[in-house]
Amino acid sequence: SSVLVVGSGGREHALVRGLRASASAPRVICAPGNAGIAADGVECFPVAADDVAGLVALAQRERAEFVVVGPEVPLALGLADELRACGIPTYGPGKSGARLEASKIFTKELLFKYKIPTAAAGIFDEEAAALEYLESHAAPIVIKADGLAAGKGVTVAQTDAEAATAVSEMFAGKFGASSSKILIEDCLEGEETSILVVVSGRDYVILPTSQDHKRIGEGDTGPNTGGMGTYSPAEVVTPEVFARIEREIVRPSVDAIADEGIEFRGTLFIGLMLTVDGPSVIEYNARFGDPETQVVLPRIESDLCELLWRAACGEGALAGYALRVKPDYAICVVMAAAGYPDTPRKGDAISFPAAAALAESVSIFHAGTAHDAAGRVVTAGGRVLGVTATAATLADAARAAYGACEQIDFSGKYYRRDIGARQLARENA
Ligand code: ATP
Repeated sequence: SSVLVVGSGGREHALVRGLRASASAPRVICAPGNAGIAADGVECFPVAADDVAGLVALAQRERAEFVVVGPEVPLALGLADELRACGIPTYGPGKSGARLEASKIFTKELLFKYKIPTAAAGIFDEEAAALEYLESHAAPIVIKADGLAAGKGVTVAQTDAEAATAVSEMFAGKFGASSSKILIEDCLEGEETSILVVVSGRDYVILPTSQDHKRIGEGDTGPNTGGMGTYSPAEVVTPEVFARIEREIVRPSVDAIADEGIEFRGTLFIGLMLTVDGPSVIEYNARFGDPETQVVLPRIESDLCELLWRAACGEGALAGYALRVKPDYAICVVMAAAGYPDTPRKGDAISFPAAAALAESVSIFHAGTAHDAAGRVVTAGGRVLGVTATAATLADAARAAYGACEQIDFSGKYYRRDIGARQLARENA
C-alpha cells in the first residue's frame, strides 16, 4: 500500500519529502510528479493532475491507502469526491469545498452571510452595470474574475481607466467562462499574510504563518506571478494578531463552511490583508499554497503523514491534535525561467551543485523541470525550482538559500534577491 500525491509542482515535492520523513515512512508515489520527485526515488506515474478517471484508476491499481491532492484543478473537478466514493481516504476537499477557491463570488457571499471581515464588493454578470458601478467607486479598486484563472484573474487598478479596461476585457472573455461574472472590490491596504489551516469538519490545526512575494520584480514591482518566494514565520503576525485572526477569521470560517453543509477535509488557505481595522479576508484557496508549503512544511516537527491522514479520515480524528513546530526560520527563493511570467522558455539544461556542496539545511524543490531525451534535467515551466533553507535566524536562512541559488545554473535563470527583505529590515531596526 502507498500514499499517492497528486500534482507536479514545488508544493508537491515538499509534500512528498514531508510525507517520506514521517515516522511511518510510507511508500510515496506521485502523479504526474516532476524530475526532482523522481530523483528522490519516488515512482512517478504519467497521469495528468486533471485526469480524474485516470487518477482514480491509478489509486485503485496501486492500492493507495491514502491520496493527498496538491493543486486546485482536480479538486474543482471532484477528484476527492470520486476517491472517497471508492473508499479511499483523501486529503483535499470535494467539489463543494473547492468552490471556495473556484468561485470568488460564492466565497464573497459566504463571507458576507457569516459577517467574516472582507472588502465590500459588487457582483456583476454584465458589463454595463459593472461600468456604471465604477462611476461611483473610484480607483484604486480591484477587479476579479469569478472563476479560476491560474492566479491571473485579479487586477488591482490604480486608475479609473485601468479599472474600466479590466472590466471590459473580462466581459470580452479574457478568462473564458471564468470571467463571465466578476467582482468589483474595495482596495484594502496593509501587509498580506497567508494562513494555512488543516481542516477536518469543525476541527482545525493552524500551520505556521508565512508571507509570499507575488510580483516578479524586486521591491514588489512588475506583474503578478504564481509566487517568487516566501518566508516563515511572518512576524507581522504577532501573538496578538494571531489570536485575533483565529477568533475573527479562522474559527468563523471553519464553522461557516460546516454550517453550509460542506464536509471540508483538506487545507483551507486564507489570504489575509492586515488592515488598520484588523485582518480582512482577500481569498480562500482550497489547497496548500505554492510556494508557502515549501517554507511551512520544513518547520513542522509533527508527523506530517499522521496529520494529513487524520484530517482525511474526518469524524473527529483531528480533535485535540497538538502541532509541534520547530523554532527555525525558513525561506524559499523561487528560481524562474527566462521570460517568466509571460512566455517562459523551456528546455534549458540545469546544473546542480553536488549534494555535498550544499548546506545541510538547504532543500531544492523542483517545480517546472523535466528530463530531456538525453536524460538531462531541463527547465519545463515558469517557476523552475524553489530553494528552501532553514536556520536559527532569517538572515542565516537567506544566506544559505541564496548561496545555493548561486551554485545552481541554467541559461536565463532569474530570482528575486529580496525575499524576506521586509522582515530582515524589521529585525535590523
Ligand atoms: P492567487 O490564488 O494566485 O493568490 P487569485 O487570482 O486567486 O490569486 P487573489 O488572491 O484574490 O487572486 O488576489 C491576488 C492579489 O491581488 C492578492 O494577493 C492581493 O495582493 C491583491 N488583492 C486582491 N484583493 C485585494 C483587495 N481587495 N485589496 C487590495 N489588494 C487585493
